[in-house]
Amino acid sequence: MAQVSDTFPEHWKYVSEGGATIVFSYNGPLNPQFNGTVLRLRKSTVPAVPFRLPNLEDVQDEPDDPMIEYQHKCMERLIPLEHLPRLESVTVNRAWLEKLIALHNADRPEDRRAKDQVDLARTKGVLATDLVGGDWLAVEIKPKWAFLPQPHHLSETTGPIKTQTCRFCMHSAMRAKGGETVSDGYCPLDLFSGDEIRIKKAVYDLWDAWSESNGTVNNLKIFVRGKTIGPAEASSMIFDDSNAKEYNGDLREEFASALGPLLVGTPVLDTLSKLQRTLDVLDIEGLSRLWRLAEISAPLYRTTFASFFEQESLITGFSPPPSSPIGVSSLFLTSPEPTISDWSEFLDMYLSPTSADHNHVNPSIENLRYYLLAYLLSATFKDCSIIVRLDPLRSTNSPTASMVKAERVTVIDLDPKSMARLRKWEKLDQEIVRAYASVEERKVCVDARRTAM
Ligand SMILES: [Zn+2]
Repeated sequence: MAQVSDTFPEHWKYVSEGGATIVFSYNGPLNPQFNGTVLRLRKSTVPAVPFRLPNLEDVQDEPDDPMIEYQHKCMERLIPLEHLPRLESVTVNRAWLEKLIALHNADRPEDRRAKDQVDLARTKGVLATDLVGGDWLAVEIKPKWAFLPQPHHLSETTGPIKTQTCRFCMHSAMRAKGGETVSDGYCPLDLFSGDEIRIKKAVYDLWDAWSESNGTVNNLKIFVRGKTIGPAEASSMIFDDSNAKEYNGDLREEFASALGPLLVGTPVLDTLSKLQRTLDVLDIEGLSRLWRLAEISAPLYRTTFASFFEQESLITGFSPPPSSPIGVSSLFLTSPEPTISDWSEFLDMYLSPTSADHNHVNPSIENLRYYLLAYLLSATFKDCSIIVRLDPLRSTNSPTASMVKAERVTVIDLDPKSMARLRKWEKLDQEIVRAYASVEERKVCVDARRTAM
């Protein structure tokens, strides 16, 4: 296993961070193990819990970051290897991490610094392909929800709304009303349509939102030689700076012409769309109903609330006994967080030819666990990003020429989601639809890949 302490913390550069991890890229002297890689480290909250010096056994015992196992055992079964970053485990130590923090903490956004920092108690990190740091342009797109739900499990109120306007567009409308900056105009169903003209429209919309928000919306990020750029630095996308100064053409057009064909040609968007829609077949509404049904069918539930069920037959306007929120274990129904072997078993089922036998219109409570895991996995694909590597605009040479075409589009941020999120997603879904119900002119989003269930 590679050791990060073989390098100096000075040779790593802060790149970005999410809620759980922080990323640095290697920027030091030639080193075959680390050239072209990024280091992803887990974070812990500030103030950190008192540190306990790990003894040697702990160090040896610390398992590889779950991200690695999840990718090898699950994601590689769903997404072709050439579209995934290479991930491997590396050892880190406290002294090295402390030096890294001292050197680079100031590069992090202030609000992040107040909340968390690199977890000093960890002895392992993840080394991954550096997709943004080469001599190319890297475009990061967070595409979001790829489909309109089937109507079967939607209510009379939500059905007409949710089958006409996509989830992303409804959510954007709600967030915009709340004063947030959103990717206004962008509809993921354009990006996922497979249609050249609609894909180009999606690229223009992403560009415009990026441009108008000064690069703050999170659906599009552009990196030039490893650094995120904002609209003011857009001309740095042109091959060399001397050209850039003289350039007064249409960068938006150049960008769309470079990116569009790669998005049309890659199978990645089709794969993500298929995965999302075949994993989320009940919608959160149907999943929630199945959950409730499974709970009230549990024998212990029937006996515990026997008096309620006796009333049911006698009184009209019967009020149901209490139920636990979706995904939250109760005495009657348990719903443990999936382990890697749960995920593997789930995938065996999902990928088997018999999975087509599931009746998604009338799902059986025996299959509740299947549908819960499927929904969580669909959420992973609704939340992932893709990185597209392009040659600098108007360049005469091609730094990406050595890459196989397929390797230029990579799917990232494929983290497993937790059962605990389900109840929040259910609540958010209700809020979004309720808010959108009062919108007078509702947007019509077209799902080109929709098929009958
Ligand atoms: Zn839409």
